[in-house]
Amino acid sequence: MASQEIRKVTEAYPMKGGDGPDSYAKNSTYQREAMESVKELVTKGIAEKLDIDLLLPSNSFHIADLGCSVGPNTFSSVENILEAVELKFQGQGLMNPQIPEFQVFFNDHTPNDFNLLFKSLPPNRQYYAVGVPGSFYGRLFPSASIHLFHSSFALQWLSEVPKVVEDKNCPAWNKGRIHYLSSTDEVVRAYKAQYAKNMESFLHARAQELVYGGLMVLIIPGYPQGTPLSHSVAYLTLQLIEACLIDMVKKGVISEEKLDSFNIPMYSMCPQELEAVVEQNGSFSIETLETLPRVLADDAVLNAKQFAAHGRAAFEGLIKQQFGKEITNELFDLYGKKLEEELSMFKPRKTTSFLVVLKRKEK
Ligand code: SAH
Repeated sequence: MASQEIRKVTEAYPMKGGDGPDSYAKNSTYQREAMESVKELVTKGIAEKLDIDLLLPSNSFHIADLGCSVGPNTFSSVENILEAVELKFQGQGLMNPQIPEFQVFFNDHTPNDFNLLFKSLPPNRQYYAVGVPGSFYGRLFPSASIHLFHSSFALQWLSEVPKVVEDKNCPAWNKGRIHYLSSTDEVVRAYKAQYAKNMESFLHARAQELVYGGLMVLIIPGYPQGTPLSHSVAYLTLQLIEACLIDMVKKGVISEEKLDSFNIPMYSMCPQELEAVVEQNGSFSIETLETLPRVLADDAVLNAKQFAAHGRAAFEGLIKQQFGKEITNELFDLYGKKLEEELSMFKPRKTTSFLVVLKRKEK
């Protein structure tokens, strides 16, 4: 095993665990809606691109969901993939198609609530389930052992905030801001470089783990090239959280220093950036790269409460790490209030995600 490749990525930002009112399990309907909307596209991708001959004679089919969180979304994605692969096997025109046995690997960072994940596994599932802790920016599986990778709404998380952004002595120091979207060119460049580096590690690891001809089905939030970043929902969300933190610095609840050293390791890619890293890596062909139907309809955004809860489920872990548990209620109450006031700003904004299907090239 290439132990040097199992890189330790110490920073982990799990979604809020458990199944309480603030949990990711209860606050991930936007992601789920997006996945429902791509179900057909994924089925079509698998039907057209999965080369079964290349995968035989293995009689067990290995699927891994990277950045699975706690469900229920991961279970529906896995279900969709399984159905699509079965259909593909049945459609081979063989008299007695040998439907393989399925093994599904659920991957996320170690602090993810794997207990809840395991407890909520669908009782009638048609697969053997395995949990795989660790960062997907390093090696997670033996060589050529996975037939299909899936990952949704996880690859926007960088492995870390670029060092220069947190360094007082660097021109890219991001003082008083918590992300790159509204920041200086230096900060934007540092985030871009971090994204490219992370994607290169991701592709390098997967290239070894995926069998030749195997597929990667990725759903990645991002933005179409040419649209201003400030038009995105991510931008507004982060701006609002930033505004709340600034208010709390003014009130003396948190220190300015803590705010200055806090940045969110999230990146919104554009398809051209992804194409560039895939090309540079050289192990995959891009089979599909399409913009998904927009799911964050105006109606959904208009529900401030629900939207605030989504923000909390996604960001609370990070906030707690930096500022301590005591401030989270106050911060997210404030966030909820600001969100209500600013709701009309969200109305014309859109979220965009991409469906990407990559295929492992043969040698
Ligand atoms: N796929 C689910 C969950 C998305 S939330 C869905 O579509 O609803 C994003 C998840 O990615 C979180 O659980 C987070 O912990 C995980 N994640 C982020 N970076 C990761 C990394 N480097 N390695 C493994 N998991 C990661």
